[in-house]
Amino acid sequence: NPNLMEALVSLAKRRGFIYQSSEIYGGLNGFFDYGPLGVELKRNIRDCWWRDMVHRRDDIVGIETSIIMHPKVWEASGHVAGFTDPLVDCKVSKQRYRADQLFWSPVVVDGKVAGYVSALESEKTAEDLQAAAESFKRKKALQGALAPVVAKDFTEAAETEIPLIPSPATGEPGSLTPPRAFNMMFETNVGALKDASSVAYLRPETAQGMFVDFKNVIDTTRVKLPFGIAQVGKSFRNEITPRNFIFRSREFEQMEMEYFIHEHADWAKAHEEWITWCEKWLKSIGLPESHLSRYAHPKEKLAFYSRGTVDIMFKYPFGVQELWGIAARGNYDLTQHANASGKPQEMFDEATKKKFVPHVIEPAVGTDRIFLAVLTAAYAEEDVKDEKGNVEKRTVLRFSPRIAPVKVAVLPLLKNKEQLTDRAKALYAKLKRNYAVQYDDGGAIGKRYRRQDEAGTPWCVTIDFDTIEKPGDTFTLRERDSMSQKRITEAELFALLAEQVY
Ligand code: ATP
Repeated sequence: NPNLMEALVSLAKRRGFIYQSSEIYGGLNGFFDYGPLGVELKRNIRDCWWRDMVHRRDDIVGIETSIIMHPKVWEASGHVAGFTDPLVDCKVSKQRYRADQLFWSPVVVDGKVAGYVSALESEKTAEDLQAAAESFKRKKALQGALAPVVAKDFTEAAETEIPLIPSPATGEPGSLTPPRAFNMMFETNVGALKDASSVAYLRPETAQGMFVDFKNVIDTTRVKLPFGIAQVGKSFRNEITPRNFIFRSREFEQMEMEYFIHEHADWAKAHEEWITWCEKWLKSIGLPESHLSRYAHPKEKLAFYSRGTVDIMFKYPFGVQELWGIAARGNYDLTQHANASGKPQEMFDEATKKKFVPHVIEPAVGTDRIFLAVLTAAYAEEDVKDEKGNVEKRTVLRFSPRIAPVKVAVLPLLKNKEQLTDRAKALYAKLKRNYAVQYDDGGAIGKRYRRQDEAGTPWCVTIDFDTIEKPGDTFTLRERDSMSQKRITEAELFALLAEQVY
């Protein structure tokens, strides 16, 4: 579906999954709000992660650290000096670009190359580049502002004599400033004094919280190596080009875990185990294997302390992009904090009677990126027959029951039949104690099913005349994906939910 992204954005708005932040004021680029259905979906993704990562494992504990930390944390971690993107300005369009990811791609209009646009994301294949070019073409955002040049990367583009084309807005040719380092951390001031001494940062990742609290955790719990510390929380990055809806935003949520291993442990094995765990987990919440792939960062591009990084990639509508990064970081972070704070970050090895600094494997993922992946994979448009045999379109979100925002909809066949509504309300009240459920008595039953299909509700339960007139107190259970119907008792319904919603 070439218009999948538009369809997702529009459904997300229409059904209350995602709104633009501060929309009545024109929105704020790179910030989003989650509506009533969205907040449930996001919470379910986060809760599933927490349950599987923390509650269901014996070797991982959770923490929650503050968003604003001592500024020295970010000096020691390397973020103050190095958390930068090379930035270039287009003097004509006044657009800013990440120079390291500046590619050029032809724009084809009516079968002819009409011009070129830059594809700004970290496109890793020609296919991604094409997808990015397509999305630009539709937006027409950059058309005419940038020079039509084909190069494989910015270095090559910079060396090329760029044939500048006039901007439609000004008639002036476009040109780019030389790249400069742009730090992506948001700055703020702590306390009443607003000077250099009070500068602090909104965290650009949650990971440093785990390193800085490492000693606290080992001193206050009974964790033994190997063990992990997990955290879920907001992170902030002043991205130069927030793009692709919630994929790259300036305020987002991360779910990160630092898995500490012995300095002599087989890190490659631990690394591989975590990559596999993450892939399995993504499938458990409904992402299809066909959309997932791995990207191993080339050795020469890794930070000097890094042993290896593998990204789990997802096939988004705009191309294959990073969803989850799993990095083997050695003992760089703990060592940096030990040196900067003067407080050793060590453990004692009973076998050798020596102290050592553990190494770490870090699976780091964005909740919002999972959200978008889940939405992408779940979305379907189908031709179906209504009760009278007429073909109609249905839009359905095939969410896994684990994360579906609403698990069951309770529908009395008729709104004005007290026997039906009483039974429906009783069931609804009972379900509500454990699950997110909706009660809907508005409109024809087919309409109500469609409404739930669009919200991704896996099951609808209809209380009809058979429920109240025939023995057995059964309901019609209508399944979202197959649209098949069968009769079910209350006990069977609860058993189904207990099995599928875990
Ligand atoms: P990218 O290369 O896409 O900028 P990154 O490699 O800088 O991402 P990390 O620092 O490894 O990302 O962050 C870990 C995870 O946090 C990413 O895999 C992604 O899921 C999520 N993430 C990072 N930046 C953003 C963002 N701006 N918006 C939403 N999620 C993000």
